[in-house]
Amino acid sequence: MTVSVALFTSDLRLHDNPVLHAALRDADRVVPLFVRDAGIRRTGFDAPNRRAFLADCLADLDTELRRRGGRLIVRDAETVAGVLDVVTGTGARSLHIAGGVSGYALRREEHLRTALTQVGCALHVHDAVVTALAPGQVVPAGRDHYAVFTPYFRRWEAAGVRGTLAAPRTVRLPEDMKSEPLPERAEVAGVSPGLARGGERTGRRLLSSWLNGPMADYGSGHDDLGGDATSRLSPHLHFGTLSAVELIDRARQRGGPGADAFVRQLAWRDFHHQVLAARPDAARDDYRPRHNRWRSDVDEIEAWRTGRTGYPVVDAAMRQLAHEGWMHNRGRMLVASFLTKTLYVDWRVGARHFLDLLVDGDLANNQLNWQWMAGTGTDTRPNRILNPVVQGKRFDPRGAYVRRWVPELAELADGEIHEPWKLTGPRRAAIDYPDPLVDLAEARARFERARDLDRQGDTGTNPDDDRVERLGGVVPR
Ligand code: FAD
Repeated sequence: MTVSVALFTSDLRLHDNPVLHAALRDADRVVPLFVRDAGIRRTGFDAPNRRAFLADCLADLDTELRRRGGRLIVRDAETVAGVLDVVTGTGARSLHIAGGVSGYALRREEHLRTALTQVGCALHVHDAVVTALAPGQVVPAGRDHYAVFTPYFRRWEAAGVRGTLAAPRTVRLPEDMKSEPLPERAEVAGVSPGLARGGERTGRRLLSSWLNGPMADYGSGHDDLGGDATSRLSPHLHFGTLSAVELIDRARQRGGPGADAFVRQLAWRDFHHQVLAARPDAARDDYRPRHNRWRSDVDEIEAWRTGRTGYPVVDAAMRQLAHEGWMHNRGRMLVASFLTKTLYVDWRVGARHFLDLLVDGDLANNQLNWQWMAGTGTDTRPNRILNPVVQGKRFDPRGAYVRRWVPELAELADGEIHEPWKLTGPRRAAIDYPDPLVDLAEARARFERARDLDRQGDTGTNPDDDRVERLGGVVPR
């Protein structure tokens, strides 16, 4: 009898899973293993919303494996220790895992390789499991990654994706495998009340209804905050309950402008992953330093976090994040611009808050989108500022999004809702809603002065570096 191990990480699915597929091809018996990595918990990356969603995913994976004659084996340990326990206990000769892009995943891979070599077990790392194209699969001449999206996208589109793989029919485990209990969603404290359900079956249902209807209007509707017309598949992509390759394949089969626009967003996901794979430090350090001397006004940061800035569309988005553990992309852009450019606060403070709450919180997508918005990343127009009033009127013209999340303003007319400070007398007094935290024109002037210093090559260090740490701006590497 030969044994191999399929180590699940960011690929918690049976459909289109090259890791599981290869492990099944490799041996008569397979251990579908998930290690609840104690190391990840220490990085602070193990936030309640993601832990709850993960519990759903593992329960679902276990159910689906049982339907095929197997089950999920769980270990509560450091990854290497958990893996070695299974490998030596079963005499497995190979272990399969998806390639990751974060510094943490790359180090984990290295430690596994060293430990497994010593016990005569081969490590197979599979590409295009988490992303559609492997990081490094397309690169510009003489460089290890693309720093600008448009040329990357041209090459990405031309490269095409690998074929999709069917879910296995049977999974046979070695005899007498012991498992620790699966984590339970109900055991997790501090979960957002409106958090979505996880799991491959839920993801596949969502995907089918998305492809069969709303995707057709994605090109024109994806920025409509009130319309909420995006796929909401991001948590499933983050946990790998859905495969990016399969999404692209099925969207392309449908075709049309909606499908094209949707596939382009999936290319953005790959783009940020290939940047992080090449520059793991960009999870924490500026990708392009701009000599920022960030401000760190604790009261302003708190107003931003709690959705009390006095700018309705910003507050609506921050409250959506707290309630659902998810936020519309246009909202993410607005609140990130507001924090980093209008309040001129370090992007790491915002990125940390997002990682504490987002169910799709993902090192590559989060940190590099934050850097993009802060102008320290790959944006080719690093100094643009999104005006929350103009953006609110444009992307929430009837105020539907603001009414949903800021009920204090629900009775205001469409023309009033994005500028409640213009109300006067008893109507203003009747609303329990703060005045604007900052004047937008003054904030813009402050930011432009700062970036002028940057253009002059100011090399002063940021006196706030240590304060950022204390404000919780530290992120896992
Ligand atoms: P759709 O609009 O339906 O798009 C489909 C998929 O494409 C998404 O699920 C996502 O996987 C990918 N995608 C879409 N936009 C982007 C983008 N700008 N960058 C990378 N991938 C994209 N996305 C995350 O998955 N995790 C994060 O932690 C995260 N943090 C962000 C932080 C900021 C400041 C900003 C501006 C964006 C962030 N995004 C993040 C990207 C984007 O906002 C979300 O992926 C998107 O809102 C998820 O909703 P959806 O699934 O309905 O997306």
